[in-house]
Amino acid sequence: MAKETALSGIRPTGELHLGNYFGALRQWVSIQEKYDCHFMVADLHSLTTLETTKNIKEKTLELAGLWLASGLNPKKSTIFLQSAIPEHGELGSIFSTLLPVSMLELNPTYKEMVSENPKAGSFGIMNYPVLQAADILIYKASRVPIGKDQDPHIEITREIARRFNRRFGNIFPEPRSMFDEVPKIYSLSSPQKKMSKSHGPDSYIALLDSPDKIRRKIKSSVTDSGSEIKYDELNKPAISHLLDIFYLVSDKSAKELEKKYKNSGYAEFKKDLAEAIIKHLTPIQKKYAEISKNPKAIEKILKDGSERARAVAQKTTREVKSKIGLLDF
Ligand code: ADP
Repeated sequence: MAKETALSGIRPTGELHLGNYFGALRQWVSIQEKYDCHFMVADLHSLTTLETTKNIKEKTLELAGLWLASGLNPKKSTIFLQSAIPEHGELGSIFSTLLPVSMLELNPTYKEMVSENPKAGSFGIMNYPVLQAADILIYKASRVPIGKDQDPHIEITREIARRFNRRFGNIFPEPRSMFDEVPKIYSLSSPQKKMSKSHGPDSYIALLDSPDKIRRKIKSSVTDSGSEIKYDELNKPAISHLLDIFYLVSDKSAKELEKKYKNSGYAEFKKDLAEAIIKHLTPIQKKYAEISKNPKAIEKILKDGSERARAVAQKTTREVKSKIGLLDF
């Protein structure tokens, strides 16, 4: 039986952090055998946040290098660059006719960005989930391994697939999100918010942070009142989120950790957490140091992957045109 197709992407902006790693990248690595995987450097999506398009070429190679260092294998997965496949934009513009604007205005990511900065509400930001639907459906992906924050976007992708199929004929699957064990990693500085590169460097641990930086960031991370180490998301969200990270980097459950740190304060807990993160990231950082010596090789992997992806994208675009009834020559 043919494998199901999976697609996901990350924007080459800022620094790759533990939220991206435990929300998305780690599952990508683990599903490479089971699915026909497509992983995309979402460089066109990074244009929606202007301040982060600086050094976009370097950031693209750094991101792809970190994927390889984390275990993505170009022999198993198609690793490619969004902007190298113009058919994504073509399909996106067809998809943009299928939804009312009011539906896109309700998207939580859009609402959050506009409430933080009303002038940031470009058409591109509103249209983000539509282009994302094209990214996914052009490969007829049925699975999308992502963090929980992206789930509303996949709902929009499903709606677009349904509307296209109803109107022009059934060619697209209705993709489903796939989450890792902890589908949302939270900010170190404000425990109600997700860990994100848009909330400042002290809110996240970057995959390339030095040991000293990691120790400093964990030491100054926000905690709750009372010194008890207890998993209680409602009353102790900050410590619960740190326990989640501790579990992910050490494989010790919250129960085991609660027991171990029962009689110690936050300081000892944080010290050990920082060391566990450092231990987890060191092999990735070492591999990245090797891989990044040869940016041309990373570029070649992206170019080869993009050629493979483009062939699929062109095939789907022809099928779409034929379903709609457009002349195609
Ligand atoms: P950011 O929000 O830092 O700009 P992206 O939007 O590029 O990151 O997200 C890339 C991937 O990483 C997506 O699959 C997203 O769901 C995942 N991701 C980002 N932040 C988190 C988080 N805090 N927890 C879990 N997954 C996350």
